[in-house]
Amino acid sequence: MSVSGVQRKITERVSVGGVAIGGGAPVAIQSMTNTDTADVQATVEQVLALARAGSELVRLTVNNEAAAQAVPAIREQLDQSGCHVPLIGDFHFNGHKLLSKYPACAEALAKFRINPGNVGKGGARDEKFAAMIDIARRYDKAVRIGVNWGSMDQELVVRMMDENAHNPTPKSNETMIREIMVVSALESAQKAESLGLAKNKIILSCKMSGVQDLIAVYKALSRRCDYALHLGLTEAGMGSKGIVASTAALAVLLQQGIGDTIRISLTPEPGGSRTQEVVVAQEILQSMGLRSFTPQVIACPGCGRTSSTYFQQLAQDIQRYLRDQMPVWSSRYPGVEDMSVAVMGCVVNGPGESKHANIGISLPGTGEIPVAPVYEDGEKTVTLKGDFIAKEFQTIVERYVETHYG
Ligand code: SF4
Repeated sequence: MSVSGVQRKITERVSVGGVAIGGGAPVAIQSMTNTDTADVQATVEQVLALARAGSELVRLTVNNEAAAQAVPAIREQLDQSGCHVPLIGDFHFNGHKLLSKYPACAEALAKFRINPGNVGKGGARDEKFAAMIDIARRYDKAVRIGVNWGSMDQELVVRMMDENAHNPTPKSNETMIREIMVVSALESAQKAESLGLAKNKIILSCKMSGVQDLIAVYKALSRRCDYALHLGLTEAGMGSKGIVASTAALAVLLQQGIGDTIRISLTPEPGGSRTQEVVVAQEILQSMGLRSFTPQVIACPGCGRTSSTYFQQLAQDIQRYLRDQMPVWSSRYPGVEDMSVAVMGCVVNGPGESKHANIGISLPGTGEIPVAPVYEDGEKTVTLKGDFIAKEFQTIVERYVETHYG
């Protein structure tokens, strides 16, 4: 349940393979694979990992014939594994050809993503765009019109920049780029509707890599239409930079009620897991009180009062343990995702913060008696000591979950 009090903008509701997007539905989390789609096994494994992590929609690139041929096999293997996460096909220059030649691919996908800047030029562009919309209509599929500032419709850019140059009070280039993004999305959506695609089959996105650009563009889009909107900062980057930039941009928009699906476009660190983008998306939504996914661990940052990294380790272990349990707990213990667990480093804020959480532990700081009081629902229930505090605390958390959410 949302505790944010955020007034969401009510957009058109789109069903994507059974997942409701927009119309006040919870903000959905999307992710994208980075495997070669033609490698069925590798792609199935990654989609399964993303879905297990909590991705509610997974996009994969469909860039050539081998990829288009692989899509039905990927869908089939996922279904056989009990994973019914909707798949979205990311199409660019040759999407119309692939979808026409491989109807089983069109059938297996829940949504097509079309980038109006990468469809073609002039009359050919219109024909290709119309062909993809026609296939979406025939197969009853949703379409995301995904404008990206790295691949803008050059004819539209020339036309609007030219008009602006003849304007007695021309706008800045920055303003014009933002406006072109919005116009590209809206004109393409209107074209799709004029070709017979229902409004509740259309989702829009306008991805940019600058935080202020993204915020300005989505605010304008939200003001000027009521299509469902997919949010994401494109090319967000790696590590903390990507996480912070994405959070900064998306939090501002989500707080204003804008956005029906989100994706965090993180560059994975070498050897890092692709699922990190799903975890970050969940943490943004949960931190904002928009959705709940996993019990939250409240941990102090530590300071000169802490004698060791013991409490950091305990906080990390508990966080990992809680996340690992969620695939089973989410169905067995409804509401457990709203639970909060405090792991604090000393007596200064430890007992207070622990009392505010559902369950908390206050570890001993430097010079304090080596005992760790545990609080449940604001009351001290036990004091742990010795070498097995971590294990014993985990057992107490397990028991709390069983008795409070079972
Ligand atoms: S709770 Fe104690 S250890 Fe943690 S930051 Fe505050 S004073 Fe430092």
